[in-house]
Amino acid sequence: MRIGHGFDVHKFGGEGPIILCGITIENPKGLLAHSDGDVAIHALCDAIIGAMGKGDIGHWFPDNDKQFENIDSKSLLKEVIQVLAKNFQLINADITIIAQSPKISPFVAEMKKCLALLCHCQASQINVKATTTEKLGYIGREEGIAVHAVVLIDDKN
Ligand SMILES: [Zn+2]
Repeated sequence: MRIGHGFDVHKFGGEGPIILCGITIENPKGLLAHSDGDVAIHALCDAIIGAMGKGDIGHWFPDNDKQFENIDSKSLLKEVIQVLAKNFQLINADITIIAQSPKISPFVAEMKKCLALLCHCQASQINVKATTTEKLGYIGREEGIAVHAVVLIDDKN
């Protein structure tokens, strides 16, 4: 078995909505990014890539590459899962969204379902939770959203 960790931050800017774990959430501000800014999917991709020992998301999908401009991050995750499936299976993933706003809990069930579909696993293998920073730091000042993800994968053989 192998473990992987991913971390990503995106800064608020422009107009909403935002996309987290593939789910569109109405928000006055958007998230600045080369892609669609799905900071949660980016952290999850990085965790899976890390568990496989294959570098990082920036190496796989360079943010100066035109083909990834405004890309739907779900397609990035699909590609990562395709590579994962060759040698490994996902045991579980735990995703922690750190945001002062918007409120994430109403979307958690939908997020789990969306990620499970993309990862070809059961929703019970994916955990999504959210926390604030008690108004401290850049998250607390509502300057952006950070996400941690950890995954466990197992060799298919
Ligand atoms: Zn990102």
